[in-house]
Amino acid sequence: MTTHDYITLDERWSARNYHPLPVVLAHGEGAWLTDLDGRRYLDFLAGYSALNFGHRHPDIVAAAKAQLDQLTLTGRVFHHDQFGLFCRELAELTGTEMVLPANTGAEAVESALKVARKWAYQVKGVPDGAAEIVVADENFHGRTTTIVSFSTDAEARDEFGPFTPGFKVVPYGDADALRSAVTDNTAAVLLEPIQGEAGVVVPPKGYLAEVRQLCDDTNTLFVADEVQSGLARTGTTLALEHEGVRADLYALGKALGGGIMPVSAVVGRADVLGVLRPGEHGSTFGGNPLACAVGRAVVRLLAGGEFQERSRELGAYVHARLGELDGVAEVRGRGLWANVRIAEGRPTGRKVSEALAERGVLCKESHGNLRVAPPLVITREEIDFGVDAIADVLG
Ligand code: PLP
Repeated sequence: MTTHDYITLDERWSARNYHPLPVVLAHGEGAWLTDLDGRRYLDFLAGYSALNFGHRHPDIVAAAKAQLDQLTLTGRVFHHDQFGLFCRELAELTGTEMVLPANTGAEAVESALKVARKWAYQVKGVPDGAAEIVVADENFHGRTTTIVSFSTDAEARDEFGPFTPGFKVVPYGDADALRSAVTDNTAAVLLEPIQGEAGVVVPPKGYLAEVRQLCDDTNTLFVADEVQSGLARTGTTLALEHEGVRADLYALGKALGGGIMPVSAVVGRADVLGVLRPGEHGSTFGGNPLACAVGRAVVRLLAGGEFQERSRELGAYVHARLGELDGVAEVRGRGLWANVRIAEGRPTGRKVSEALAERGVLCKESHGNLRVAPPLVITREEIDFGVDAIADVLG
């Protein structure tokens, strides 16, 4: 079968909720992908942070293979020998007390919302059915019905109603607006410490500390969605660390699955996650033996600090290089995570990612911006290759 055959097959048999670039990938290793015809591409997107350790990292693949030969699925009705170790190791890595495993990022966020509401009724004393959750505009927390209920992106939300009530939306980065929105019935504030899909938006310095203070003052939970920003992407294990701030609950996902399978979790305070009782919440696949073995390999890689350091050092390099390019209006972000705003009059839209693919670089553009988020195993020379291709396309 040819590239054309595969694309035609996808278009005939799959729902059209994506519009992929016209390459058909067949192999991946480290920061590189290879298509059907043997053409190589540098991965400048890393599966939106799901591939922080690159494609098929040998330690993660080895852990998965070893577990495949032992035990892969049990359901949570039984204990298994990977579960408690995964939970303890992930809690220790993130400096938290308890872990609620799940599969996708959206599921982790949904689980955190449910836990926050239950905590509000049981602990804060909010009247039944009245719990509110305050979120930020331009948020991206996933695609479930409840989550798109508080999205401000028309594409994500329109014609998917009726929506789940109980959410208030305030401008991101505006602590005063947040303070005005919080009431006695507020269970939680849910925020991305850096807004990923909005275009790697870093909030004003001090904002996240103010959010923490506000939550402390009002007995409100701070729920941080670190599904994309977490696990070394910004140069620290959790992006909130840059501001010296702790959340009460964190949603983690993407890189937790090591680029192999969906693994997510809510981690946080034991007195908050502890409100769940048997039968009240669950997941057939959450915390399965294979996922736990993969997650443990990820935690081991992160515990060494090497990936966080690579992201800091190479991040500074990539930001500096991108900032010097002709045709770039602004670069923002943190670590190996950059949003590049393309200057007026330069190529924009899908043309940019197609032209980059022709030059051997796979990247995502949207609304006049380019997202640069390579796997953290990338080298300086590989970054140069990618940045040179961007210079060529924009120049
Ligand atoms: N939260 C954030 C911050 C995300 O960026 C995403 C995905 O992009 C999600 C949640 C949803 O994750 P998933 O696609 O695994 O459901």
